[in-house]
Amino acid sequence: MSAVPLLEVDEVVAGYGELRVVQGLSFTLAPDEILAIVGANGVGKTTLLNALAGQLRIWSGRVLLNGERLRLRRAHDVVRGGIALVPEGRHVFASLTVEENLRVGAHTRHARRDVEADIERWYSTFPQLQQLRRRPAGQLSGGEQQMLALARALMSRPRVLLLDEPSLGLAPQVIESVFEFIRAVRKEGTAIVLVEQNARLALETADRALVMQRGRVALEGPARELARDPRVRDVYLGRRETSVTPAAAEPNLESEER
Ligand code: ATP
Repeated sequence: MSAVPLLEVDEVVAGYGELRVVQGLSFTLAPDEILAIVGANGVGKTTLLNALAGQLRIWSGRVLLNGERLRLRRAHDVVRGGIALVPEGRHVFASLTVEENLRVGAHTRHARRDVEADIERWYSTFPQLQQLRRRPAGQLSGGEQQMLALARALMSRPRVLLLDEPSLGLAPQVIESVFEFIRAVRKEGTAIVLVEQNARLALETADRALVMQRGRVALEGPARELARDPRVRDVYLGRRETSVTPAAAEPNLESEER
């Protein structure tokens, strides 16, 4: 790992009104790395990603990309800075065509020829998208919309991709192709922060992982080691594969000996 991490999240605090959700959370991300964030429902994973994407104001803390502090005030600046979010529920522009969605993803870039080249590149990666290029995105299946949302986020050529629940609502075979694509994106040099309700899938896919509890990092380590950790297995990898773990049912991992 290089001395300066690609992304450094330092004591970030964020929430809504009086509600402090993310409570001083820190982590680093290396280039080409997939970091999974697992945790019970409602622990604040989406809130964290939205804060890192500039869509929710952070109350305090810092976010550095390549050692430089990011201005998180406007989502636009964050995208220009090199971070792109694929939000939970995908949020493609339903009335725009597939191709128009991809162009919207490139709105922070000026070199038109490069944008066209990237569109062609994503079409060769996802031939289905090419076939659907003139179709309104609202008519696509869930899996196709997830592929489009990923390709659209990549149109800004981010260095860090934030993925919020990419498997949500998709059939198992479709999930497999979405995750194949996620691994391919990392191989091509984009680092990924992956929030995923299916903790097993998240830990199989990621290099490192952290467990979020009470708005903080409770455990952190290589994903394979965390997958073997009995505390993680019991709470997040039990029979309930889709992690419906209510926060109240979790043991406090921070207070236990590792
Ligand atoms: P899930 O897996 O269920 O999406 P999560 O870990 O992503 O959970 P968040 O969606 O970040 O959790 O929610 C964290 C807390 O913040 C919850 O208590 C939730 O009720 C609250 N919350 C989320 N969005 C808002 C909002 N827009 N306004 C007020 N409170 C919110």
